Amino acid sequence: MRILVVDDVPDNIRVLSRILTDDGHDISAATNGRQALKLATTCSPDLILLDVMMPDMDGYEVCKRLKAEPKLGSIPVIFITALTDVEDETHGLDLGAVDYISKPFKEAIVRARVRTQLKLKSQYDTLEKMSILDGLTGIPNRRAFDERLDQDWRRSLRSGEPLAMVMIDIDHFKLYNDTYGHLAGDDCLRRVAETLTNGLYRVGDFVGRFGGEEFVCLLSGINTNGLSVVSERLRASIEALQRPHGASSTCPWVTVSVGAAICRPTQEMTPSDLSEAADLQLYTAKQRGRNQVSLTQL
Ligand code: GH3
Ligand code: MG
Ligand code: MG
Repeated sequence: MRILVVDDVPDNIRVLSRILTDDGHDISAATNGRQALKLATTCSPDLILLDVMMPDMDGYEVCKRLKAEPKLGSIPVIFITALTDVEDETHGLDLGAVDYISKPFKEAIVRARVRTQLKLKSQYDTLEKMSILDGLTGIPNRRAFDERLDQDWRRSLRSGEPLAMVMIDIDHFKLYNDTYGHLAGDDCLRRVAETLTNGLYRVGDFVGRFGGEEFVCLLSGINTNGLSVVSERLRASIEALQRPHGASSTCPWVTVSVGAAICRPTQEMTPSDLSEAADLQLYTAKQRGRNQVSLTQL
């Protein structure tokens, strides 16, 4: 893993680098606060060893600024310092540091504490990865969708290729819960998620749970005809499950309504334009009687 070592005394950096390199880590080094903040952004370390007493910007200030940045705030910081008063240590921990090692440091202590923090960091990373998946259905969640839309949008802007979004909402799902119970409702959501996922074949295709009983797909490199075919296939795949829905006035089975929108992103447009258009089409599909696709080209 990568460790950023910050100390204004090059000898300290040398010693720490040797210890940590021996343990198989990659080391980046900074000799002042500003350099440290810059490197924290560019080399995305898994851990920062931070000296407190440095000219210009001290370690406390560096830590404070790191913690204020959403992207950097989750990098664990260990202070390594000759300041050993209880107040100093407390202050450092209050600023969000995970540990405090006093100078002169012992090799074995540095090794052990670094190992502990890196283990925690890797568990944290795993958790973060897990938090982009929806707990009930196991497919990507809203957060993952937001990120993906952003990425796909920018890629389409560069390439000039169209981007399509498909919003899918289960019909009369409140009635389904009322009739069959919430557990059956949850099971239905899982089944729909699985079916939609299996209904998209291309590597770049995305399907996620938008929230509640709504799902969303992102498709790039597709044209309007293709989008129409895929949307209809997704709709039909849910109806084909023939999952009984006795309370539905639309169909004896569980069905979905589908709103699809496609555009060629330009600088004048935002991803919300595509989302709003797909949402409006979904509304239209509901209005026209549900269990159908409505599509627009922006
Ligand atoms: P429409 O055909 O117009 O879409 O009607 P609807 O009943 O599907 O729409 P509505 O938005 O009124 O109701 C959505 C329902 O979805 C209500 C809510 O209880 C249910 N729901 C949302 N999330 C979950 C979930 O995680 N599990 C279960 N079982 N039900 C959920
Ligand atoms: Mg809904
Ligand atoms: Mg619904």
